[in-house]
Amino acid sequence: MINFDYVKASSQKAAIDALNKDASSQFIAGGTNLVDLMKRGVTAPQKLIDITTVPLKNIEQQKGSIRIGALALNSAVAEHELILKKLPLLSQALSAGASPQLRNMATVGGNMMQRTRCSYFYDLTMPCNKRQPGTGCGALKGYNRMHAIFGASDKCIAVHPSDMCVALAALDATVVISNNKGDRRIPFVDFHRLPGNTPEKDNNLQRGEMITAVEIPDNNFSKNSLYMKIRDRASYAFALVSVAAALDMKGNTIQNARLAMGGVAHKPWRLTVAENFLKGKAASIENFKQAAVLAMKDAKGYGYNNFKLKLAPNTIVETLKTVSGQG
Ligand code: SF4
Repeated sequence: MINFDYVKASSQKAAIDALNKDASSQFIAGGTNLVDLMKRGVTAPQKLIDITTVPLKNIEQQKGSIRIGALALNSAVAEHELILKKLPLLSQALSAGASPQLRNMATVGGNMMQRTRCSYFYDLTMPCNKRQPGTGCGALKGYNRMHAIFGASDKCIAVHPSDMCVALAALDATVVISNNKGDRRIPFVDFHRLPGNTPEKDNNLQRGEMITAVEIPDNNFSKNSLYMKIRDRASYAFALVSVAAALDMKGNTIQNARLAMGGVAHKPWRLTVAENFLKGKAASIENFKQAAVLAMKDAKGYGYNNFKLKLAPNTIVETLKTVSGQG
């Protein structure tokens, strides 16, 4: 590992000031991805700003929404009474991620900032436009079993690895971002980016900014929601495909639907066309199959990941069946 400076900031202002002071500095909280990236030489910040003691760990009900501080631990959020009761989808997605040890270290903000697990990204001997722009993409014609089937470009076909973010995208969350001038809010679905011509940029956070919270609006989805994760082993594995589904049901009629997928794109992949199709329809297997066909319209495989073209719609249908009580 290359030497670096380490400072500790104990307030939001001190953290943002420290970040602005030094262009090569970076925040560290749980470090569950960043330390790996540094050990492998993928990234080499000259200064780390430890923000673990900044008071941003609260999980609280506000008027019309639940606010979760960016430094709340993944395990604390997953096990919090309010989240279990009102946002079980988020709790399930968090519990499906990583291992208990990692969830005890990882923070909400860090989870959002984690980088792809594309093996070419971590292998310094291989070309990778995300790690080193302009060098090419090793995965495009390589072993791309874990890679994207939606929204990729000829520069990068990586996927975002988070489970939590898939649930937050489905639940219409908002990201609260702070800088030295104040706060700004962006919809969660607009936080992460597609690769396009700039795959080195994972998200729309600007230099000098800090994620301070996520806010999830109150909803009627708590009775019928499910995070289904398909992976190679039952624990400590990234999603091949995952589906976050939430239905607001009246009898057998779907009043409202929220759907998002993980393991399929450079960002959590929201299925708005399928959601709109399901709205007002009966919860039937036929309708679920049609929703899955609509969701898969623009999907494209790259060889080793072609199996996802079947796995993804099947997972959508199975999740909807289970969530509507027909599984
Ligand atoms: Fe790099 Fe993206 Fe290609 Fe993986 S898919 S090698 S992260 S450019």
